[in-house]
Amino acid sequence: MPHPVLASPDLIRFEGDTPHLVGSRCNECGEVYFPATDSCTRCTATRMSPHDLGHRGTLWSWTIQGFLPKAPYNSGETAETFQPYGVGYVELDSGIKVESRLTVADEAKLQIGMPLELTLIPYRRTDDGEVHTFAFRPAASA
Ligand SMILES: [Zn+2]
Repeated sequence: MPHPVLASPDLIRFEGDTPHLVGSRCNECGEVYFPATDSCTRCTATRMSPHDLGHRGTLWSWTIQGFLPKAPYNSGETAETFQPYGVGYVELDSGIKVESRLTVADEAKLQIGMPLELTLIPYRRTDDGEVHTFAFRPAASA
């Protein structure tokens, strides 16, 4: 299956069909960043390498986005068609926290510490089809 079209292709790499987040890691001190950066704010080094952050984490904090965000949010929704969505900080297995959309927008189904996994969701429709963005969803029970 071809991989979905992404709004920000540089944030994602695929391992088979499984999307992984990609950040950067400082070659000097090992600090990890997401999104990737060109230089390290910890030690000021400028030699960074792409770093696979995996696709699993746990919910660290969250809220429900209940109204249409201001630009540069560009999903194509209007105030009338907007659907509330969850947004949270996800602590990845590597220890770094990333801000992400959540597939769940129901407070009753969100719990700090719950296991999550990366997925891709349709974000915007263009003439060429759907553009996807990343989100975290509750992890399938192992
Ligand atoms: Zn560094």
